[in-house]
Amino acid sequence: MTWADRLSPQVRSLPPSGIRRFFDIVAEMKGVVSLGVGEPDFVTPWHIRESCVYGLQQGYTAYTSNYGLLELRHEITKLFERQYGVSYDHRREALVTVGVSEALDLAMRAILTPGDEVLIPEPCYVSYTACVSLAGGVPVTVPTLMENEFRVTVEQLEALVTPRTKALLIGYPNNPTGAIMPKEELASIADFAKKHDLIVISDEIYGDLTYSGTHTCFSSLPDMRDRTILLNGFSKAYAMTGWRIGYALSNPDFIAAMNKIHQYTMLCAPVTAQIAAIEALKNGQCAKEQMLREYNRRRRLMVDGLKKIGLSCFEPKGAFYIFPSIKETGLTSLEFAEELLKKEKVAIVPGDAFGTSGEGFVRCSYASSTANLTEALTRIERFVKNYL
Ligand code: PLP
Repeated sequence: MTWADRLSPQVRSLPPSGIRRFFDIVAEMKGVVSLGVGEPDFVTPWHIRESCVYGLQQGYTAYTSNYGLLELRHEITKLFERQYGVSYDHRREALVTVGVSEALDLAMRAILTPGDEVLIPEPCYVSYTACVSLAGGVPVTVPTLMENEFRVTVEQLEALVTPRTKALLIGYPNNPTGAIMPKEELASIADFAKKHDLIVISDEIYGDLTYSGTHTCFSSLPDMRDRTILLNGFSKAYAMTGWRIGYALSNPDFIAAMNKIHQYTMLCAPVTAQIAAIEALKNGQCAKEQMLREYNRRRRLMVDGLKKIGLSCFEPKGAFYIFPSIKETGLTSLEFAEELLKKEKVAIVPGDAFGTSGEGFVRCSYASSTANLTEALTRIERFVKNYL
């Protein structure tokens, strides 16, 4: 028996992330323009970094409550009250986690019994199906279409719901498509969740990065607050990916259950990052809006540029990704990404890394400088000309 044979079957059957594999190749190459990674190119605003430095000077170096600093939880719940009119008790209904990544894992492990099914609109963030599988659940993906602006419909969900369906996992604004869901359509999804008595895990990490209309917080919809595990964090909107700080908001039973796992596995989120997160919530609005304006400018540049090249492309409404179709080139997503990297040294992510319905598309992140984006568009145009 080899060491590999001794691994848990759940881990063995998990495919490695398509993104990472690709970026291991990119890391070895010189002169690459990368539109690959899903993180802001901005450094965390100085006042946020400074608050962390000051916290260290003051000696904040110890564990915090498992739930997170009370002040941070209070700032989070105040924000939700202010921004979305939904109230949570910061003592019992908020949990600070190591990024949304941890919150996602905790949510799945807290609610799933082996064999439970979770509906997940696809293309979706790479961790969704993996987290469900690792918790013993069965991911049931629901393909969304560019023709429908990558929005999931109740009809699609109704076709796949079964007596084993326990939850629905949604992430809007969406990574990788940039899709958002209008409030009325989210309200229909809420009715569907109620009808089938489903828990809704709503990953709203890109909620503040919305360019068209305003973001609807799922738990603000009628009767959804207690049924929803709301996930959010600081990585994207505040350019704080490396700080590893996120949170979950839900009813006290779900939060206590998630905290049970969190206290045995993580204990607490890093105190320095929690201090910085308080500063972000108290004084980070201006910097956040500045970054949003810049992303919006770059979004326009990419939409216009890709259309000019001849790639059909849904105009993203949120997050910082654009997901053009490459079907007309006759290449698969992987072939397109590999050839583009080899011939023109532009790194993008093949769409099938986000599920089989992502085949025929590629994800480009526009969280990159205008100079990089312009150069990438020139190279993509040169590359695509060989196929169209
Ligand atoms: N959710 C989505 C949709 C993401 O795109 C990402 C990161 O790319 C995460 C969650 C993970 O976020 P965090 O850095 O808070 O763990």
